[in-house]
Amino acid sequence: MALHPPIRHVALIGLGLIGSSIARAVRDRLPETRVTGYDASAAARAAARTLGFAHDVADTASDAVAGADLVILCVPVGAIGAVAEEIRDAISADTIISDVGSSKASILAALQAALPGRHVIPAHPVAGTERSGPEAGFATLFLNRWCILTPPEGADAAKLAALTGFWEALGANVEQMDAPHHDLVLAVTSHLPHLIAYTIVGTASDLESVTRSEVIKYSAGGFRDFTRIAASDPTMWRDVFLSNKDAVLEMLQRFSEDLTALQRAIRWGDGDALFDLFSRTRAIRRSIIEEGQDDARPDFGRSGQ
Ligand code: NAP
Repeated sequence: MALHPPIRHVALIGLGLIGSSIARAVRDRLPETRVTGYDASAAARAAARTLGFAHDVADTASDAVAGADLVILCVPVGAIGAVAEEIRDAISADTIISDVGSSKASILAALQAALPGRHVIPAHPVAGTERSGPEAGFATLFLNRWCILTPPEGADAAKLAALTGFWEALGANVEQMDAPHHDLVLAVTSHLPHLIAYTIVGTASDLESVTRSEVIKYSAGGFRDFTRIAASDPTMWRDVFLSNKDAVLEMLQRFSEDLTALQRAIRWGDGDALFDLFSRTRAIRRSIIEEGQDDARPDFGRSGQ
């Protein structure tokens, strides 16, 4: 697939689930594009070399980004600023610097502070799994998933078109938003659900009157779906909550109010209120399936991923 203007060389810093998935997708779908990479973890670099999804895995971030048209930082949100400082002198004035972090306003600020005057265009592919590391990636991760770009005001139109074309070539649908709006949307669609899953699994593991073996044995009652989300990477999610603090606290406040209203409906035997809410939520699930953002099968089609 031809990209206009083309990305001839993409450098990926962080070769875990997302970085290695981008590398694999580029090798499959943009065979003319050179892929170089670096990871701070020596074990991840060794695994990346063995798996062979990049043309070259460098021993420093600066070596990995030399000559790249596009640099994508695929590290935990809290590490973005430090990595940007590390590569500053090795990137050209023409290079696009992007990332894949799950929150955007703090990343935009960190990248602009570390790389003033450079072509910074943050991005967030809304795709992932609870797994981490170079072995966890796969080339089809971004197929028919959204990738949200949060360009700063005055971003170069040709660079924005190039980045958009890059993500579309990997199979993603690209949308643009400003960074604070992205953070609010994702706080309710991703960050709050993770917080709730972490809480429920934590609460169950703290219960003294229910044994651990009973929790595991009867988990098909709903609990097990929360455990999948609650198995997500602790470093990544710590950084997401710390970097998107305001939007998450705002959504958490609304959630607590709605939970209190439900508590009240149960206490007062208000079956109509419960039935109305559960009917509305069932319709939302149907829309997600109709829009191809999930699978109607009981295992959500995730077996084998
Ligand atoms: P991951 O599988 O844990 O990979 C991240 C890799 O980056 C690890 O190998 C890590 O090494 C390395 N790293 C950490 N600090 C570094 C540094 N300063 N320089 C170079 N490498 C460094 O994580 P991931 O799931 O790919 O997540 C990466 C980014 O994608 C995060 O910002 C996350 O918010 C975003 N994201 C994740 C998902 C998801 O579902 N997982 C979805 C969308 C976006 P160590 O293990 O040694 O720290």
